[in-house]
Amino acid sequence: MATYVYRCDTHGATERSLPIGTARPTTECTACGATAVRVFTAPRLSLGDATRRALIDRTERTADQPDVVSSPGPRPSRRVPVSANPALRRLPRP
Ligand SMILES: [Zn+2]
Repeated sequence: MATYVYRCDTHGATERSLPIGTARPTTECTACGATAVRVFTAPRLSLGDATRRALIDRTERTADQPDVVSSPGPRPSRRVPVSANPALRRLPRP
């Protein structure tokens, strides 16, 4: 499904969710039933939630202009086990 935007002269923009490639050049306005003309807009691509988008934006920004730090960041307070499988606990450790 894709969201297509149509514009009614009286009520402004209205959206329709239709299968890709099935949008007609005109449709009826949902408010008044008049002819609404299709408006071509930029595709609305979603990259997930806001946290994920912020991470992607920060990663792209730091690729060209990395943050300058004077020391390494704080160490984690405790070690996180790699696996919860009890059979792996018997393996030799370095
Ligand atoms: Zn209308």
